[in-house]
Amino acid sequence: MIVNVYIDKALPQIDQLYSYSWDGEEDLIGRRVIVPFGRGDRREVAVVISSGGDADKPLKPVLDVPDLHPMLSRSAIALGLAMREMFLTSYVQSFQPLLPKYVLGDVVEICEKCVDNDATKTLMGEESEIAVAEIKKEVRPLLATALEEQWVRLAFQSTKPVKRRKKEYYGAVDGYDRSLTEKQQTVYDLILKKGPLSKAAIREETGFSDSPMETLLGKGALRPSQPPLPRREEPPVLRVDQKKAIEAIERSDRRGHLLFGDTGTGKTEVYMQLAQRAMDRGLSSLMIVPEIGLAAQMVDRLSARFPGKVDILHSQRSEGEKAEAWLRLKNEPGRIVVGARSAVFTQVPSLGYIFIDEEQEESYDYQEGLRYDVRKVAEMRSKIEGGKVVYGSATPSVKTYARTGRELERHRLTGDPDKTKRPSPIEVVDMREELLRGNTEILSARMVEGLEETLRNQKQAILFINRRGFSHFVSCRRCGHVIECDACDISMVYHRKTGRMHCHYCGRTKPYPRTCPVCGSEYLKQFGIGTEQVESWIARHFPEARVLRMDKDTMSQKGKYEKLYRSMQNHEADVLVGTQMLAKGFDFKDVDFVGVVAADLSLFVSDYRAQERTFQLLTQVAGRAGRGERRGRAVIQTYNPENYSISYARDREYERFYHREMEERRRFLYPPYIHLVKIHVRGTGKVEETAYNWQKTLGAINRHEHLDVQIAEPVEQPKIKNKRHYSVTAKVFPEEYRTFLKVLKRVLMNYYQNITEKNIYVTLELDG
Ligand code: ADP
Ligand code: ZN
Ligand code: ZN
Repeated sequence: MIVNVYIDKALPQIDQLYSYSWDGEEDLIGRRVIVPFGRGDRREVAVVISSGGDADKPLKPVLDVPDLHPMLSRSAIALGLAMREMFLTSYVQSFQPLLPKYVLGDVVEICEKCVDNDATKTLMGEESEIAVAEIKKEVRPLLATALEEQWVRLAFQSTKPVKRRKKEYYGAVDGYDRSLTEKQQTVYDLILKKGPLSKAAIREETGFSDSPMETLLGKGALRPSQPPLPRREEPPVLRVDQKKAIEAIERSDRRGHLLFGDTGTGKTEVYMQLAQRAMDRGLSSLMIVPEIGLAAQMVDRLSARFPGKVDILHSQRSEGEKAEAWLRLKNEPGRIVVGARSAVFTQVPSLGYIFIDEEQEESYDYQEGLRYDVRKVAEMRSKIEGGKVVYGSATPSVKTYARTGRELERHRLTGDPDKTKRPSPIEVVDMREELLRGNTEILSARMVEGLEETLRNQKQAILFINRRGFSHFVSCRRCGHVIECDACDISMVYHRKTGRMHCHYCGRTKPYPRTCPVCGSEYLKQFGIGTEQVESWIARHFPEARVLRMDKDTMSQKGKYEKLYRSMQNHEADVLVGTQMLAKGFDFKDVDFVGVVAADLSLFVSDYRAQERTFQLLTQVAGRAGRGERRGRAVIQTYNPENYSISYARDREYERFYHREMEERRRFLYPPYIHLVKIHVRGTGKVEETAYNWQKTLGAINRHEHLDVQIAEPVEQPKIKNKRHYSVTAKVFPEEYRTFLKVLKRVLMNYYQNITEKNIYVTLELDG
């Protein structure tokens, strides 16, 4: 028999499976094999993807088959193959995410002895467990019988150490009555009330060091104890709209669903109840969140509902731990995994739901380096292995919303009609009028009023500005020269903290120039606003207010995020100034006021999604106000108040925004009306020439296949890190997309295999 295997050591540009001969009878599909590969025929681990085919020359044989069970299920193989077609990737690129490194080479299949008898003694001697690969060839046939009779059991295990962070818990000794210091008493009372806690939890709850707790331990007021058993939280009684959505999704024949409802309308509750129903039937579900930072919150909620059933795939865990979770999810039915985009590949015995929370997030889009769209992968999976995909959002992406009705079923969550307060009002301030009135400050009169009122009421405010640093750029007043990075075609940002100019693309810095490097003039001026400037403005005008700043610069250290979150929660700060980071998951009950300092920032980027991004961002940010019992308010400052993404965000008119945006997309031919295929050419060599060649190549495909693809002239993009960059964009109509991709793939693979120029990098971007 011929088997065709995937080897992750193979070069991605050589897009092929490798064939070997195999003289056994067993079905090897999905199983690991050891094969001779590369120079010197090194032994490499490979996985069998298919069998059969012809060989025109004698093949090398499979050297060994270490396990009995497959690593890749049939549906995982089908997914890998489908991804390779859909995203124009190679076997290596499409199977790597399905079979992470910490699994492929770093797990062994173990045979555990369950019964001591002659057969098991022959198989494994006195050992209680051995690797299947170590069972001698001559006695292997016995293994089948032993398995059938359940004398032995097989399981994969990680060979990497699973570092378990041992957490000790401490419980209170009842009725301890000797005198304690104030701090000791606080710790003792806390544990008495809450039950056993870990050291970290005690520190967190009290803010003390470990010392009072250790003294109590010494005195015998505390003692080491078992961790408290997680108590299962009971689900709330569902509202009518939630119930309707759940039943419709369960009953539906459609694979894809959109749960459309504002934050707080109970989407997560719907996910959990659907997951519960899936679990009752032994099905596992995947919960995908936009970034791993948001996973912890989700894990807490899910674990309270499904104790012991939730796993998280997290890059910060050790390889061994990750492998363990991977294996548990692959084998145990009825579990839930939470993770960022790559969790969409988690293999499970049978798939229930894939939930994609905050569906509109960019992190789910096709990314040049990773080369897949999370939503498409999820839908491909449900097509291959059953199960359903549920998207959730308050502001769904235009592309997804356009698919509702035809391909996706839409379910609307309205929230509790009795309890829902009227949403906080959003006010738009025209900064041009503010200037005419003589206010040249960065904050408008309305914004200042809002802040004053909030501080007077001892509530909190969040100010949002989507740029870190002090100003936007520095320019010469005489000749107009703008200070740029030496390695990139990007203007540098002045940071007051360092007193230097920073490049936000490559991280380089240089001193703030005293004179213009072009004309020598001393009249240099800063333009635009960044977080540092807003922070210092507030400090100057509201000296009594406690101000926190949150952006990439302040969040670089580990643990900072939690610390800041807690300071806000405990009302140890009055005003929080920050970037986009603030828009997600930041709910504080004391925040009454939200200000957007410059709504225009995301409006003029050269991307067809600029309006959509602005609408989503403003909606999200404004939603941070009035999360508690009271109503809050939001003020948006802009120079373009008539812009529709701003005005519809103010009016909370998602549908109207959507229809208007679709008109624009149709007029200017953008997704979802067409697919965008972009070829990026970067490097230090003949970038421009290569880009023009690609334009010609795409044109040739167009003519040859009689297609109607629109191919634009190459466009020069800003140079980054001394690499020039051109992109060639093709707009492809949906009915021609498949054909176009098929031919493009052949051309690309051929190009990769025959690259002559070393310092040119060609990559592909697919959108729509
Ligand atoms: P979303 O995911 O849409 O932001 P959540 O599911 O997080 O909304 O719900 C917001 C809050 O309302 C949570 O505290 C949740 O426990 C609560 N909640 C959701 N559904 C119900 C319900 N049917 N009855 C009572 N409380 C509910
Ligand atoms: Zn100058
Ligand atoms: Zn730079």
